[in-house]
Amino acid sequence: MDLKSMIREIPDFPKEGIGFKDITTLLQDGKGFKEAIKRMADYCRDKNIDIVVGPEARGFLIGAPLAYELGAGFVPVRKPGKLPGETVEITYELEYGTDSLQIHKDAIKPGQRVLVADDLLATGGTVKATVDLVKELGGEVVAIGFLIELTFLNGREKLEGNEIFSLIEY
Ligand code: IMP
Repeated sequence: MDLKSMIREIPDFPKEGIGFKDITTLLQDGKGFKEAIKRMADYCRDKNIDIVVGPEARGFLIGAPLAYELGAGFVPVRKPGKLPGETVEITYELEYGTDSLQIHKDAIKPGQRVLVADDLLATGGTVKATVDLVKELGGEVVAIGFLIELTFLNGREKLEGNEIFSLIEY
């Protein structure tokens, strides 16, 4: 199945000059969505993943079904003020300014095997922050998986030292 053909590219979104990779056209295709999650799960079935961690919001769309498929738990990473329990927070640099993400303090136990999953790897900032939160809680990041990787942005460099996989490359 050609998953790449199910991704729609929207020119000049959210800003002029950006070719936005729209995954909604893949998600709305039942067979395509299932195949994408299956392929990501196949990559890590032998890795004994305890927990899949996904950053808000599109990381939920990939991470939760992936966790279900693997029989693992799912842990959300969210923007500040959304998680009800005690959290740890990380602030990271954006192109202009900074952003913060939080995780529940008790969501991961030291030594648990974690897969970090998101829809798309661009510069790697979002997932690097997510990985750092997992490590702060003592989780072992076994792999990082993406549906899409924008290879020309070299996000892998920011995630050096981790095992990374993606299904679709641009
Ligand atoms: P990064 O932190 O620069 O790697 O950006 C990755 C985050 O931005 C992901 O969580 C994506 O949801 C979002 N993102 C950036 N570019 C695109 C795109 O072209 N399509 C969909 N999401 C994108």
